[in-house]
Amino acid sequence: MATLEVKDLHVEVEEEQENQTREILKGVNLTMKTGEIHAIMGPNGTGKSTLSQTIMGNSAYHITKGDILLNGESIVDMPVDERARKGLFLAMQYPAEIQGVTNAEFLRAAINARRAEDDQISVMAFLKELDKNLALLDMSQEMTERYLNEGFSGGEKKRNEILQLLMIKPSFALLDEIDSGLDIDALQVVSKGVNSMRGDNFGALIITHYQRLLNYIVPDVVHVMMDGQIVKSGNADLAKKLESEGYAGLRDELGLDV
Ligand code: ADP
Ligand code: MG
Ligand code: MG
Repeated sequence: MATLEVKDLHVEVEEEQENQTREILKGVNLTMKTGEIHAIMGPNGTGKSTLSQTIMGNSAYHITKGDILLNGESIVDMPVDERARKGLFLAMQYPAEIQGVTNAEFLRAAINARRAEDDQISVMAFLKELDKNLALLDMSQEMTERYLNEGFSGGEKKRNEILQLLMIKPSFALLDEIDSGLDIDALQVVSKGVNSMRGDNFGALIITHYQRLLNYIVPDVVHVMMDGQIVKSGNADLAKKLESEGYAGLRDELGLDV
């Protein structure tokens, strides 16, 4: 079992113009284990993406207090690629386009980067796994022979990210707004892919604006983030309650004036 712990995390960003900093995350606490799917919901601009970017190591986000631990080890001083090697996966983390590298070549390199020198995946094993996952995601082989992300539609990019997830098999995936802009068919395919990863060796943090996605990927734990803090956690029913009562209802319940 792997664990991912966020402890009293405070994060600042630089303001564009005034050469000032602003605190976005104001003491976030979160503990996840493999085998669990957590969802974070919350209004726009409350720091959900900041949390996932900070966990993955985007240098635009400065930690001023607190820690992030993977299996008990602090990762905050590790570069992004080391965090990835240690088992974290952030959807959208990969470059938009890499010239001259096909999608399949990229995937194989990404898998091998996480394996020891003497344990590289064989071409045969890779292609077998690729075919299996392409079928699951209803994707054509042709997609993998194209240059990475070149000319991919929004829906194809999302599907391709889930293909990366299935191929790379991280311990923890941070999936930020994987549902945005998807039609219902694509949403179902993306959900099927994530659900196929469910099991003792996989955990996910699903960030979403809407409850709709959580009808397809049913979370074990739902957290609500407001103004840089997790203000409430519960089970999947919490997402349903939010959908019907809105964030305003929760603000009233918690006596928040944010
Ligand atoms: P959410 O994902 O919940 O909508 P974000 O984490 O994207 O919220 O943003 C939270 C706040 O932090 C917003 O006010 C946003 O403008 C600001 N912010 C996020 N990233 C940056 C950045 N790289 N530079 C400056 N401000 C940022
Ligand atoms: Mg504070
Ligand atoms: Mg966001």
